[in-house]
Amino acid sequence: KPLVFSGVQPTGNLHLGNYLGAIRKFVALQDSNDCIYCVVDLHSITAQLVHDDLASQTRSITAAFLAAGIDPKKHIVFNQSRVMQHAELAWIFNCVARIGWMNRMTQFKDKAGKDRENASLGLLAYPSLMAADILVYRATHVPVGDDQKQHLELTRDIAQKFNNDFSARIAELGLGVEMQMGDETVNGFFPLTEPIIGGPAARVMSLRDGSKKMSKSDPSDLSRINLTDDADTLSKKIKKAKTDPEALPGEVDGLAGRPEADNLVGIYAGLADTTREAVLKEFGGQQFSVFKPALADLAVHKLAPVADEMRRLIADPGHIDAVLRDGGERAGAIAEETMHSVRDIIGLLQD
Ligand code: ATP
Ligand code: MG
Repeated sequence: KPLVFSGVQPTGNLHLGNYLGAIRKFVALQDSNDCIYCVVDLHSITAQLVHDDLASQTRSITAAFLAAGIDPKKHIVFNQSRVMQHAELAWIFNCVARIGWMNRMTQFKDKAGKDRENASLGLLAYPSLMAADILVYRATHVPVGDDQKQHLELTRDIAQKFNNDFSARIAELGLGVEMQMGDETVNGFFPLTEPIIGGPAARVMSLRDGSKKMSKSDPSDLSRINLTDDADTLSKKIKKAKTDPEALPGEVDGLAGRPEADNLVGIYAGLADTTREAVLKEFGGQQFSVFKPALADLAVHKLAPVADEMRRLIADPGHIDAVLRDGGERAGAIAEETMHSVRDIIGLLQD
């Protein structure tokens, strides 16, 4: 049975990339799946341990989930650190994964920068915790932005190595499920989770630099559209967004080699829930002086209701905390069931 899991870090401002690449997909998936959506607070301390406002950021991401339309009664919404089994399974996965696998992760290379020896060990092991977040629920599908593709591949590698290393124990304990791997049918404990990536806004780029993804941790606020930007700020940022002097092309091919133009067209398509083709059909031949105000109007129209609802929810932190507590209890029950089996498979002594 499909089970959807995904997470968002409580660091910095939620931006349009997070919304279009992830949160809006979370909402769409809840009609036909069981979903678990997590504010991954333990991930947010990998880059920077000391935060003044981790709790309020956690509430703010939760508010965004609810404001976007996630139903915390039908599904599960909670913050990661409440369910200690995530960290427990991450430790085991640290012993499954190889250092070489972690060293190859582009996010680690980007975030660690030049002084890699001085990055936290947590930043290196981040994908191992991410694999644990997903697999502690044996989730089958993970909606994410394009930047997380490599981490999802690693999650599959970890699941596969665990299934393989413990295949005899898994079979002996009767804990496996039949899975198709290539032409082979294997009996594995952890599923090989599929990412759900796609649509015109799977990778929203910075407004200042078409070669960098829009990011919460970018020091320049002009680089991103925050979910909570007011109409004036939003219009100003779009107006200032880097572009080239050409008019918009009539066909998608014409966006090749024009990353900033491609990005704005992709954002428009994402917000309007359509394709780049359709956007260019409407705006092909027009200058950015026409397209940018249209994009700003659309963004305000789509984002303002979510931001208003977020503000309303944040005003009642007691309600948000109750949602997280309830979600944490329900998530914890599932996670403990998985961990009990994992401890048995490994041979750890328990009651
Ligand atoms: P940071 O830069 O600090 O890692 P972030 O903006 O990447 O922050 P995360 O909390 O790491 O935010 O990611 C939450 C979700 O948003 C993930 O599914 C991620 O793939 C998605 N996402 C992040 N940035 C973008 C983007 N620019 N375009 C599309 N999706 C994105
Ligand atoms: Mg990220």
